[in-house]
Amino acid sequence: MSKSQFQAPKGTRDIMAPESDRVSNLLSIFEETLNSGGYGQIISPIFEDIRVFQRLGDSSQIVTKEMFDLFDKDPKNPQHLVLRPELTASICRAFTQHRPVTPWKVWYQGPQFRYEKPQAGRYRQFLQVGAELLGSPDPHADVEIISLASRFFQKAGLSNTKLLLNSLGDAETRANYNEALIGYLNLNQADLSEQSQNTMLKNPLRVLDSKREQDQAVIHSAPVISDFLNDDSKKHFQIVQKGLSMLEIDYELTPRLVRGLDYYTKTTFEFIAPGLDTAQNAVGGGGRYDGLVEALGGPPTEGIGFAIGIDRTLLACEAENISVPTNNIEIFVIDTTGGDEALILSDELRQIGFSVDRSFDQRSMKSQMKAADRSGAQLAIIIGTDELNENQVTLRDLRGDGTQIALDRQSLSKALPEMLQEMTK
Ligand code: ATP
Ligand code: MG
Repeated sequence: MSKSQFQAPKGTRDIMAPESDRVSNLLSIFEETLNSGGYGQIISPIFEDIRVFQRLGDSSQIVTKEMFDLFDKDPKNPQHLVLRPELTASICRAFTQHRPVTPWKVWYQGPQFRYEKPQAGRYRQFLQVGAELLGSPDPHADVEIISLASRFFQKAGLSNTKLLLNSLGDAETRANYNEALIGYLNLNQADLSEQSQNTMLKNPLRVLDSKREQDQAVIHSAPVISDFLNDDSKKHFQIVQKGLSMLEIDYELTPRLVRGLDYYTKTTFEFIAPGLDTAQNAVGGGGRYDGLVEALGGPPTEGIGFAIGIDRTLLACEAENISVPTNNIEIFVIDTTGGDEALILSDELRQIGFSVDRSFDQRSMKSQMKAADRSGAQLAIIIGTDELNENQVTLRDLRGDGTQIALDRQSLSKALPEMLQEMTK
């Protein structure tokens, strides 16, 4: 086959059935999970003022390197926009704009855009689902958020995902820890990668987030934040851990987990799928960001949330061999009398809830039978000249022994549900 002139842009892909059926399935599991927790959906713009994301902090790669820029054409208001790279900042922007009653609990789904080096599980357009809870400092809010993410993976059938948990403490904790970390990194600067030496000057904490091999030894022996938590942060973290234990959600304490964004405080967490490549094995992550709303011009408001990558969740499902129900056709209508009968019958059956397909182009009986087999349908409904004249249809079990029976055309709709149920037993 010759290569087509146009390809999907670098780092993007077309997700087609049956993979897209898996995506829909995951999205509906997510929606159901979050609705069950009293979260409402937020549908916010795909693009935003660049400054919304710049508040996430200069040392974040998302802000410095990964954004797709857009410029408003209006010469009087040449706004600098970007395709959103994540949704927490947009949601905090929406919060400061609308000032909803707190606690404000929202969930979202949608594409995010990051100018990354594409690899398996790392794309320039990818799908995320997530949730945010704004306006409560209660550690039970942290537990609720983590539990909902965890239940989502569970309902998706994943049994190997691991929850990594850490606390970054509050501002006081961070200041004390930063001091110790800077001292340590300065001493070991020569062993760090060039990129990390740069990061170190802007935000030493982010050096711990480096996945570069060269940095691992230094990261491994760095001081850990858990030794620096002040009483308030320690107490918060203890209640979070106790809550998770009460819900029987396993976690692993990972004192070096800092996560990508600067604005995290206290609880941070990540879900990893051990079946995936380590550079791309995070299927989700989140944390508390008590200063972000204020940074965006809103009132001081605590927040906690998570985001889950659907593309990587799909890979994790594959790695665990989870079969996700696909959207199969139930009935295939075969019409050798010209097609009108197939047209009418398909519509009639679809209206009463069956999924139905048919052939076009007035194909031969043989060709339509082949299409019926390929469709995966349980049942074929055949209408030939004899059937049409006698006001009947022939039903053929496509998956069993090929049994055929004749049925009155009028009683078809009524009889079908029971017959299909009988066949799929
Ligand atoms: P990573 O360290 O892998 O780059 P991240 O810390 O940048 O992840 P977050 O910003 O926390 O990721 O986004 C939450 C989730 O979104 C990630 O755990 C991952 O599953 C998914 N994700 C992030 N970037 C991508 C991408 N470029 N392609 C596909 N999925 C992604
Ligand atoms: Mg990233």
